[in-house]
Amino acid sequence: MPRYDYRCRACGSTFELNRPMAEANAPAPCPDGHGDTVKLLSTVAVTGTASGGSAPRPSSGGGGGGCCGGGCCG
Ligand SMILES: [Zn+2]
Repeated sequence: MPRYDYRCRACGSTFELNRPMAEANAPAPCPDGHGDTVKLLSTVAVTGTASGGSAPRPSSGGGGGGCCGGGCCG
């Protein structure tokens, strides 16, 4: 069950409530009995695309220094 944070505008205190998502926008009474509360944006773990792509690394083949390394160009 998701947890929502509310803030009472009457006394300024914040409190949390565990309630079903269908009742997320329902008025939540303050623990002190106040009814003027607002729902805060809670830190909900959003399932996003974690772009941790690995760049393709071209493998330089061979250990030789090209053609002129072995004296084949002379
Ligand atoms: Zn209150």
